[in-house]
Amino acid sequence: MHVRRKLVVGNWKMNGSLAQLAELAPIAAATRAASGVDVAICPPFTLIAPAVARSGGIPIGGQDCHHESAGAHTGNVSAGMLKEVGARLVVVGHSERRAEQGESDEIVRRKAEAALALGLQTIVCIGESETERAEGRALDCCSAQLGASIPELSGEAELVIAYEPIWAIGTGRVASCDDVREVHALIRRLLVERFGDAGRRVRILYGGSVRGDNAAELFAVDDVDGALVGGASLTAEGLVPIIEAAA
Ligand code: PEP
Repeated sequence: MHVRRKLVVGNWKMNGSLAQLAELAPIAAATRAASGVDVAICPPFTLIAPAVARSGGIPIGGQDCHHESAGAHTGNVSAGMLKEVGARLVVVGHSERRAEQGESDEIVRRKAEAALALGLQTIVCIGESETERAEGRALDCCSAQLGASIPELSGEAELVIAYEPIWAIGTGRVASCDDVREVHALIRRLLVERFGDAGRRVRILYGGSVRGDNAAELFAVDDVDGALVGGASLTAEGLVPIIEAAA
């Protein structure tokens, strides 16, 4: 039996400001008080360095990275650049990037490889659309995305999976505990098939309208090892109850 600490990651998306970094101190205080929970915040690129300076020890990460280390990729940021300014983790393959930037599973896998190779904790997102779920294809979709989006496990850096049903992101609609249990069990089975015992150590987060009032029941579901949180992570008031529910 592997004991996996809960992990709560805030994804600020294209939100936040220097002034908003004031939220980090109470988030860090709540994290220290709630022993047994790992917490990290991923602000926009421009806020990473100042966030590191004001993080109170909480890991700060990026919301994406390029799969190459440098070159003619206007507007992009490499894993090494994130690391240089103090990022300790990165999210790759978020559904908003898959949709808005047309990122394929293969690109996501290459980004994850680049980040893991530099020692960044790497959170790979997968999840079905509303149509895919309505048509009974949610499990097939997640299985295919997982297979093609995650690299081999190598080195010390931690791979984390985030299951984020697209229809639950930012909508206030949360997946039912039964649906979450079914998908997380599938992800765990596929991880163990592919990586053996190491697959049991990979943390699997749920993401999609997690709030203080629904976090506890989601965290009680088997193989839910924490949450990737969008909207509710923008303020300490939103995130602290989720951290407390994970403790
Ligand atoms: C997300 O940004 O990954 C997310 C899950 O957003 P929200 O919590 O707002 O649904």
